[in-house]
Amino acid sequence: MNDFLDTSIEFLKGVGPQRAQLLQTELGIFTFRDLLEHYPFRYLDRSTYHSVADAPYVDNYVQLRGKITGIREIGSGRHKKLFARFTDGSGSIDLVWFQGIQWIKPNLRTDVEYQIFGKPKVFVNQWNIPHPEMAIFADVQNKTGLQAFYPSTEKLTAKGLHSKGIEKLIATLIPQISQKIPETLPDWMVQENHLMSKEKALIAVHQPKSEQQIQQARFRLKFEELFFLQLEMLLRKEVTATKMKGFVFEEVGNQFNAFYSNHLPFELTNAQKKVIKEIRKDFLSGKHMNRLLQGDVGSGKTLVALLTALIGIGNGFQAALMAPTEILASQHFESISSFLANMDVKIALLIGSTKKAARIELHEKLLNGELNLLIGTHALLEDVVQFKNLGIVIIDEQHRFGVAQRAKMWKKNTTPPHVLIMTATPIPRTLAMTFYGDLDVSVIDELPPGRKPISTIHRYESHRLRLFGFMREQIALGRQVYVVYPLIKESETLDFNNLMDGFEAISRSFPMPSYQVSIVHGKMKPEDKDFEMQRFVKGETHIMVATTVIEVGVNVPNASVMVIESAERFGLSQLHQLRGRVGRGAEKSYCILMTGDKLSKEAQKRMETMVQTNDGFEISEVDLQLRGPGDLMGTQQSGVLDLKISNLSKDGQIVTLAREMAKKMLSEDPKFEMPKNQLLKNQIQKILRSKPNWGRIA
Ligand code: ADP
Ligand code: MG
Repeated sequence: MNDFLDTSIEFLKGVGPQRAQLLQTELGIFTFRDLLEHYPFRYLDRSTYHSVADAPYVDNYVQLRGKITGIREIGSGRHKKLFARFTDGSGSIDLVWFQGIQWIKPNLRTDVEYQIFGKPKVFVNQWNIPHPEMAIFADVQNKTGLQAFYPSTEKLTAKGLHSKGIEKLIATLIPQISQKIPETLPDWMVQENHLMSKEKALIAVHQPKSEQQIQQARFRLKFEELFFLQLEMLLRKEVTATKMKGFVFEEVGNQFNAFYSNHLPFELTNAQKKVIKEIRKDFLSGKHMNRLLQGDVGSGKTLVALLTALIGIGNGFQAALMAPTEILASQHFESISSFLANMDVKIALLIGSTKKAARIELHEKLLNGELNLLIGTHALLEDVVQFKNLGIVIIDEQHRFGVAQRAKMWKKNTTPPHVLIMTATPIPRTLAMTFYGDLDVSVIDELPPGRKPISTIHRYESHRLRLFGFMREQIALGRQVYVVYPLIKESETLDFNNLMDGFEAISRSFPMPSYQVSIVHGKMKPEDKDFEMQRFVKGETHIMVATTVIEVGVNVPNASVMVIESAERFGLSQLHQLRGRVGRGAEKSYCILMTGDKLSKEAQKRMETMVQTNDGFEISEVDLQLRGPGDLMGTQQSGVLDLKISNLSKDGQIVTLAREMAKKMLSEDPKFEMPKNQLLKNQIQKILRSKPNWGRIA
C-alpha cells in the first residue's frame, strides 16, 4: 500500500463526490495513482506562435498572437453567431462563437494584444477558429512550454472535465507528489538503461519542459509497463516448466518410425527436422511442453503436427488436434487420413455437426483407448469429451483461442498433456513475445523445395478483359485458376449476389464445352461442395469460382493463378493465406488482386505490401501497423492489451529491451534472492496476485 497514491480521487481539490463518481465510471479513475496514470495522448508546443496566414495549413491546433480589428454578429436567436476579425499583420482570420455570446462579446477588446489558441476549421467556405482559448498577451504567465492533451468523454466534458479540466486537476496534484512516488524498478536497472526516476517521469509526462523530456518520460513509463509484462510471462513459463510435470515420451515409437520410413511422401525440410528435434527434446525432459510453432503459409506445419502426434501415440498415449473452424478440422482430418492410409492408427473427427449417435460411439472409444487421434473443433473442449490417456494436444491457428481455452485442455488428463500451438500465418515478433511470451517458440523458416515465388499483381476493373485473356493463356498451358470472392456475414446477401454475377460473367467468357467452371460456396450442400471440389482437384474443371471457403487447406498443385476479387475488402493475412493456395506445383504462379479504382490509404498499402513481398513474417509486421494488436489477436486476448502507455505496434524495440532485461534479471537471480532485486519481488508479487489466470499454474 502506498497511502498517498491510493488516496481516493474525491479528496483532490476541485473534484468532490459528483466528479469523482464520473471519473470512476467514465475513465476508471479511482485514486491519485489512476489520475497520474491517465497519460496525455498529445502535446502541443505553446512556446511558439504560428502566423495567421499559415494557420489554415497547420492541420492541428495553432497558437496566434495579434489583435481583434472588428466584431460582428450574424443571425438571430438560436442561430446567432459572433465573429471577431483577428490579425497579426500576416493575414486575418475570423474567431467564431456559437454559444455564450452574451458573455463573450462584452469582454472582447480591440485595444489589446491577445494570445489565441484553437483549431482552424472550414465553415461556410471560410477558415475560422471556433471557440478559441484566449488570453491577453501581457497577462500570459506561461508563454513557453508544452501543453498536454488528455482523453476525456462527453459526460466528463459536460462537467468541465475536458482535456483542459483534467489538465487542471493534474496541475493540482503534481505539486503534492514530491518525494511520495516510490521507485518501482531497482536502481541497477534504472542506471543501466538510463531511465528517469519514476517520480520525475510522472511529473515530466504531464508537465514536460521539452520534447526531450517527453521522450525520456514516456520511454521510462513504457519500459516499466512492458518490463513487468515480460517478467510475468517469463515467470509463467518458468513455473509451467518447473512445477508442471509432463509425460515422458521415451522413444519416437513404432508409428513414427513406420510412417517415416514407409509412408512419408517427401523428404522433410531441414526446418521441419529442426522443429521435430526441439519437440523431441521437450518430450524427453519430463517437463510439460508448451510450444508455439510459427511458420509461413505452406511451410508444412500439418506434417509436423502429425509426426508429433505419432510420437505420442507410439508411447501409448492419445493425441488431439484442434482447429478453429469445421472446414479446417475436416480438411486436417482428410489430409491426415490420407497420410495414414496404410497405417494402423485409429483416427476420428469431432465437429459441431457430428451426429449424436456417432458422438456417443466416439466418446466411448476415446475412453476405452480404441481411438488414437481425435481431430476437431472447439467441440473437443467440452467436458463430455474425456480421454483414456491424452498425452499431446495440438492446436492449429492459435490466435483464435484464448489462454483460458489452452488451460482447459490441460485438464483433460491428471498430468496435463503436452501442448503444441501452430499459427496459420506468422505473428509479429513483438506480439508473439507479449501474447505467447510464456511459450517456447519454434520457427519453420524454410518452404519445401521447388516452390517458385508467386508473382503478385494489382489490377483494376478496367483491366478485366486483359485478365480474362491471361486466364485463357494459362488454361491453354494446362493450368487451373481460382477466382475468389469475399463473403462477409454483414453483407452476405449482396456478397452472394456478386459471387453469382461473377460466376455468370465467367461462364459467359469461358463457355462450355471448351471450358469447365466449378463453383463452391458455403450455401451449397456438403456433398455438392465436395463434388465440385473433387472435379477441380482431379483437373476436370479449369476455373474454380469460390468464396473464402478455400482460404485454408486446399491443395491443388496444378492451380497456378489466384484471382482475388474485391481484394481491398480482405485483410492482409487473409490475402496471404489465399495466395498460399497457388505456387504449390512446379509451374510459375500468379496472384492477381482485383480492386475498385478508389482505394483507401490503408487498402492501397495492403495491395502494395502484397505486391512487394511473399514473406509472411514481413506481411504480419505491416498488418500490425495497419490494424493494431487488438484486431490482429482477437478480442479474447484483449486482457493483455490493457496497456496504459505502450503501443505494441510502435514500441517493438522497447518490448525487446524489456524482455532482455527480464531474462537477464531472472537468469542472474531466478528466485529474487538478491537484495538489489527485493523491490522487484514485491512488485511482481503484487501484480501476480491481481491476475486470475495465474492460479492454475502458480
Ligand atoms: P501450412 O504450414 O500452411 O499448414 P501445410 O502443412 O498445409 O502448410 O503444407 C503445405 C503443402 O506442402 C502440403 O501440400 C504438404 O503436403 C506439403 N509439404 C509439407 N512438407 C513438405 C516437404 N518437406 N516437402 C514437400 N512438400 C511438403
Ligand atoms: Mg495449415
